[in-house]
Amino acid sequence: MKYHIDTIPVWDAVKSACDCPVCLMYKKIEDKSVEFFSGASVMEPDIRVQVNQKGFCSHHQQLLYAQKNRLGHALMMLSHATETLDKIKKLQSSSRVSGGSRFTLFGKGKGTADVCNDASVLSQISGSCIICDRIDDDFQSYLYTFIHLYKTDPAFPKALASTKGLCIPHASVLLGMAQNELNGEQYSALRSLLLEKISSNLEQTVADLDGFTRKFDYRNADQPWGNSRDANERAINLINGHCIGNIKTK
Ligand SMILES: [Zn+2]
Ligand SMILES: [Zn+2]
Repeated sequence: MKYHIDTIPVWDAVKSACDCPVCLMYKKIEDKSVEFFSGASVMEPDIRVQVNQKGFCSHHQQLLYAQKNRLGHALMMLSHATETLDKIKKLQSSSRVSGGSRFTLFGKGKGTADVCNDASVLSQISGSCIICDRIDDDFQSYLYTFIHLYKTDPAFPKALASTKGLCIPHASVLLGMAQNELNGEQYSALRSLLLEKISSNLEQTVADLDGFTRKFDYRNADQPWGNSRDANERAINLINGHCIGNIKTK
């Protein structure tokens, strides 16, 4: 697949002092997409058609709701819910034709296929998300640019070495991509760097989490917090990718 190469956002993320530059890139793309779908552009007919078709996942519904554009959000949902109602009506009328053993989940014959189709139509309605799809396109091209810079610009691996490293999900995605794009020597250097960073971050996090949990013992109430105040957030964001709190860039 051919990706658009835009090095500036990748360099910006790597130069920031955040816990995972890839989480930061993802967040920026996500913020931009959520803002787009909270603005006037969603009234454009072609965008409206796509929103009606795909809808939003629960995570992005929450982010749209938090934008507090109640009327814009409700207008999108009015249009999407109306189209969804059409899909449900079609599903209802298809069930009237099939009849017979359609409720036999594990049986053979026509009924089984109908039940599977019902499930897939319903899961498509609730599981697709236009924001996830948009993010994915941009995000893949940023990841590709990340690997491209690592491969072609000697300053990039050096800059990466002075970051705090990546979260585990993003190390996984990047190493997966790097396997096909880097030569053996480059891959092994990237692998060592990322695993070393994750390992030392985890060691620190484990020590801080231990300190955090000890503070709940009344006998340690007077002990200083040290670095343990945000230990739980850091552990979650390192292991699951950024999902708690704001991304700190300083
Ligand atoms: Zn990350
Ligand atoms: Zn989504």
